[in-house]
Amino acid sequence: MLKSLYQCVLEDITEEPIGPTIWKKIYALEEAELCKIWKHVYVFWKSSKMIELDYKIMHNCVFTNVKLKKIGLSDSELCVVCHKENEDIMHVFINCDELEDFHDYLSALLCKIFENCDSDKINLVQSEMLLLNGLRWKMKGVNDLFLNFVLSVARFCIFRRRNLLKNGHKNVHLTKLFQYTLKHYVTYFYVYLCKQNNKSNVFEKNFLKDNPIVQETDDVLVFDL
Ligand SMILES: [Zn+2]
Repeated sequence: MLKSLYQCVLEDITEEPIGPTIWKKIYALEEAELCKIWKHVYVFWKSSKMIELDYKIMHNCVFTNVKLKKIGLSDSELCVVCHKENEDIMHVFINCDELEDFHDYLSALLCKIFENCDSDKINLVQSEMLLLNGLRWKMKGVNDLFLNFVLSVARFCIFRRRNLLKNGHKNVHLTKLFQYTLKHYVTYFYVYLCKQNNKSNVFEKNFLKDNPIVQETDDVLVFDL
């Protein structure tokens, strides 16, 4: 009785957010699939800025120039990186011409991460959706925790480069920014977990297991980025 009363009250005061419906439409996702993506948004290893960006991507509320123009905070809808097309969320992360080299680099890196994959689900992996929303399922031979961390760093660096250019910086090398950022965080957690807190098992599970691109040799991390 009390439970149904509680449900009734909840129904009156809650409304489903409309932002995430963009992903349901674009990728024909069910609600349950969307819930799996949310699990990767709040992860201890991500910086607060990465979590914030992933949260905004999920809610389709990244402040692109298309959105900023709509609310009168930008004079132009054009992309600040390529200056050719309007900057909506798909343009920022997927369609911008200036992402071509980075996408090629990331595809090659993902191939390495998936190289020992032993699962039929590999056929379901679609690169665009993977970059925007991460991997939603477990796959034998693939460290999905690390993979989702890598993808979050990639999204963060794409948007960071965009913000740096918007603020007047020039010649920001996206691939180098990504490599530096990924190495920085993985090394930080290696020292924090393995050297300072005796939690090598946690580091192993999240960063080393089934991971061809980060290995530990003689107490030193070796990256193949
Ligand atoms: Zn562009």
